[in-house]
Amino acid sequence: MTAPFIVLEGPDGAGKTTLARSVASLLAHRGLRHLDRRQIADTSPFVAHLMEQLANMLWSSGDSRDLTDDFWAHLQASWFSAHGQHVVRPALADGPVIVDGWYHKLAAKLSDQGWADPDLDRLFARVRRPDHVILLRTSPKAMWERRQGTLRPTELGMHNREYTELGEQSFLDHQQRTLDNLTTTAENEGWHIVDVPDQEDVKETAARLVSLISGILDTSAAAAQPAGSEGFTARYVWPNPTSSLKSAVLKQMSRSLSDRDGRGVIGEFERAFAAFIGTEHAVAMSSGTAGLHAMCAAAGLTEGDEIIAPAYTFFATATPFAYEGVQVRFADADAYGNLDPASLPRLLTERTRAVIVTHMWGVPCDMTAIKAFCRDNGLLLLEDCSHAHFASWDGQRVGTIGDMAVFSTNQKAITTGEGGVLVTNNPHFKELALLHGQYNKRCFQEIPADRPHAAYALTGMGLKSRSTTLGAAIGIDQLAAATDIESRRRHILDRFDKALAGNPAVSLSRGAEGRSELGLYVMGLRYDATAATCSMAEFVDRLTADGADFDIPGSTGVIAHEPLFHRTHRAQSWTEVPDVKASDFPGADAFIRSFFKGPLWGYPGDEASVEHQLATLTRHAAAVVR
Ligand SMILES: *Cc1c(COP(=O)(O)O)cnc(C)c1O
Repeated sequence: MTAPFIVLEGPDGAGKTTLARSVASLLAHRGLRHLDRRQIADTSPFVAHLMEQLANMLWSSGDSRDLTDDFWAHLQASWFSAHGQHVVRPALADGPVIVDGWYHKLAAKLSDQGWADPDLDRLFARVRRPDHVILLRTSPKAMWERRQGTLRPTELGMHNREYTELGEQSFLDHQQRTLDNLTTTAENEGWHIVDVPDQEDVKETAARLVSLISGILDTSAAAAQPAGSEGFTARYVWPNPTSSLKSAVLKQMSRSLSDRDGRGVIGEFERAFAAFIGTEHAVAMSSGTAGLHAMCAAAGLTEGDEIIAPAYTFFATATPFAYEGVQVRFADADAYGNLDPASLPRLLTERTRAVIVTHMWGVPCDMTAIKAFCRDNGLLLLEDCSHAHFASWDGQRVGTIGDMAVFSTNQKAITTGEGGVLVTNNPHFKELALLHGQYNKRCFQEIPADRPHAAYALTGMGLKSRSTTLGAAIGIDQLAAATDIESRRRHILDRFDKALAGNPAVSLSRGAEGRSELGLYVMGLRYDATAATCSMAEFVDRLTADGADFDIPGSTGVIAHEPLFHRTHRAQSWTEVPDVKASDFPGADAFIRSFFKGPLWGYPGDEASVEHQLATLTRHAAAVVR
């Protein structure tokens, strides 16, 4: 395996050349080299001679109006093919390479001019594909200001027809379309996307690129083992220990190891998290479980109250309620493993105060039906979104649909190491959540003194479950990479979905067609044993025997029979274990019998593991069909 071939991509004037040069000099100690996309080869005098001619044609004859775009396109494709073969390939033998702009921009323009994808594929068939593409997104306006007067329409590939002269508006339109096209490709192909704010100094952009590219170099060194090789074992690492993450933690260590209020890194993380989900408020906690406990307290639930919770979930969805003496009544699961709205009416009593849902394995619950039920019966709707960062139901982010939501940030799609975040649009709930676990300073600062509960600001309600500052720093670094995490993980899910298409035994767990956008915690898979020649357990054994990482969830199951939920009162001694009458949850049982999962990677350098995982799963899935 050769060193990674990295490409900076973006519209003309985005600063690719300057940035590629500066990043290469900052990472020279890692062996990174910048190759100019205009550089000719030195593999032999003849090749050098030919490439020089080609370069002359490309860069000197550009102004001729007689040239058609077609001619231009073929010339460029020849250039990139030759460059990939005679400049990039030999350089990769010596170490990682970064090039300032590859054929994608041209492809975006041609596609804008009506070229079909298969034609583009043919045109660029012989061009060397990069291992990593980083799309720089700069606003067209800023590019205009930077490059005004120095650009000719022909340089932008605007050879004929409309563009005789480069006016501001035609430039802006043209650049915006190129950017949109590139963004679509970036999302489909799982590129890294780096947004460059108008005011950002080149040095700052370069520093951000350095940390991204260091991560690429770290992980590609770690994954240097070729995919599909004998004895290969997929390995899941999360979060990816990029140099950006490491430096965020180091910086925080010298800034503060403990914040007593929201004025430091914890507040910064909370604001970033609230913006990520789309709520007014976010309160960071020491764990998701602590967040769920705060949610119970903020909802005012106590002994004598009842809630309805899913029978099938991770137990911490409901245990904090049981701790507070709230009676938990359990609802069966629907076909996706989620709380089945049809089971709600039966569980309603005059003591019911709230419904809590978990969007299991990232598949959003039927929030339309559940929300209607809560509204009709005057119940609070609470969401455990710990599996469901990035998920939406009918276009609305989960965590914004109910009255309050909690996201664990333990080893979840966005992580702070240990931690959890309570989000809400309701300031009253936010204040009560603060009182629950963030006493003194923070409560004095953030709870208006005229509120009746402000009397508890000093002591809180007796508990402390504050987030760590290092966790918050990790969380901020994660959220800054959220677009990248999302596009990579969605890209991987799509590849698995396509690879399994039409297989009756194994499929990706996707949720309601057209309504759910998946959360990105794990890769959930469904197994139909009636269409297969072996049991799910045996199938998963075959996968793991071949070094793939899949499992049948162990600690998540039917929780309704746990004694904790059957204590008669809060103060009941732990030596007194209640007798539990078993009840049936056929929906949950059926789901459990058909569900297994694998990790969802999503960082530069995970390719070897992803490829191995995909190859192993598709091979065994094809073989197991009855
Ligand atoms: C992880 C998780 C929790 C608990 O979060 P912690 O941060 O581990 O306390 C609660 N509910 C669900 C569904 C989870 O996956």
